[in-house]
Amino acid sequence: MQSYRHILLAVDFSNADRLVVERATNLAKQSQAEISVIHVVDNLPISEPGYDVLNSLDLELTEVLIDKAKKQLSALAEELSVPEQRCHLQMGRAISEITTLAEEREVDLIVIGSHGRHGLGLLLGSTANGVLHHAKCDVLAVRVYDD
Ligand code: AMP
Repeated sequence: MQSYRHILLAVDFSNADRLVVERATNLAKQSQAEISVIHVVDNLPISEPGYDVLNSLDLELTEVLIDKAKKQLSALAEELSVPEQRCHLQMGRAISEITTLAEEREVDLIVIGSHGRHGLGLLLGSTANGVLHHAKCDVLAVRVYDD
């Protein structure tokens, strides 16, 4: 069986990330694959369009989120020795950003956490579920547990 050459690690900076990072780095070592990392900042507006004051709050919040995400991503990149050009901070919806980047960068395995939710969470769908359905490459869903 051909081993993986390019692994995309999707991180949301929750406590569950540790296990997902560990799985991805172990697999990369075993198959001598390169790792890319992605984090997506969701640009969901919190305010209604038409209220200028609240819209400026959206902008401020987005800037704070991006700034924090940049710092966390660069700390992880340093820890894993992943070069800057393989660290991706995207804006948008996690599922489409992850699957689009995977195609663009010819990734052959996406490693992602899966909470294995039930009930409403399952109905609404999870990131892992969406990525699994839309990705053109293999996806490893690492079972993680909420604290
Ligand atoms: P979820 O089920 O949506 O809470 O997320 C499950 C997994 O999807 C996480 O463990 C991450 O691997 C990935 N993920 C969720 N949100 C993001 C995000 N904003 N950016 C990158 N990966 C994410």
